[in-house]
Amino acid sequence: MALSQEAIAANIAAVRGQIAEAAARAGRDVADITLVAVSKVHGPDAIRAAHGAGHRVFGENYVQELVDKADALGDLDGLVFHFIGHLQRNKAKHVVRVPAVVETVDSSRLAAALGGRATAAGHTLDVYVQVNVGGEAQKSGCSIARAGEVIEAVRGQEGLTLRGLMTVPPAAPDPAAMRPHFARLRALRDELAPGLGLSMGMSRDLEVAVEEGATVVRVGTAIFGSRPPR
Ligand SMILES: *Cc1c(COP(=O)(O)O)cnc(C)c1O
Repeated sequence: MALSQEAIAANIAAVRGQIAEAAARAGRDVADITLVAVSKVHGPDAIRAAHGAGHRVFGENYVQELVDKADALGDLDGLVFHFIGHLQRNKAKHVVRVPAVVETVDSSRLAAALGGRATAAGHTLDVYVQVNVGGEAQKSGCSIARAGEVIEAVRGQEGLTLRGLMTVPPAAPDPAAMRPHFARLRALRDELAPGLGLSMGMSRDLEVAVEEGATVVRVGTAIFGSRPPR
């Protein structure tokens, strides 16, 4: 069931509180952490409600859904989308139409396709390189070994600006099990892209992610409730 605007506003405030507490524990400035409210599968009204509560940054996983929502919500000021789903090269042209940050660049070929589309559209696109830190066969993201090559491919594209690294670690019941994966991504960032961002942490493990240096956390369920079937 869709949550009310009041419930969504209260959830956002609670998540912000969690981020602030974790940042304080780690001696970090909360202003360095962006909360992406993951609205995938929820209707445009969920975004409207969160926007009414002052939130502006939303995460979407499916290209068509992203484009449809951006069209339906054209009257809202300051909306920014983060695309966090698997992106096929042939969909790159649709993504560059929307004011979106693409967090899931995981191959040199995808970097070239996105960069070419962004340049043709006359703007630059902020992107993250997605790394499969857990080495799971079925999961998107480049391997740790390939990350340097994908980062170089992004840097070689005039139409792209590298903002950092992103990961979705293997699911585990205990958030503490995520810590080594988050630390691994941070070490990789320090090695290959010092000073740039780290997108990691979801509803269940955002505090651990912030303690390990996340600059972007992607939170769906804790804000919008459980997702309806797609
Ligand atoms: C769905 C999704 C999220 C949000 O997950 P929750 O557990 O609902 O917070 C974050 N990141 C990615 C890549 C997702 O696909």
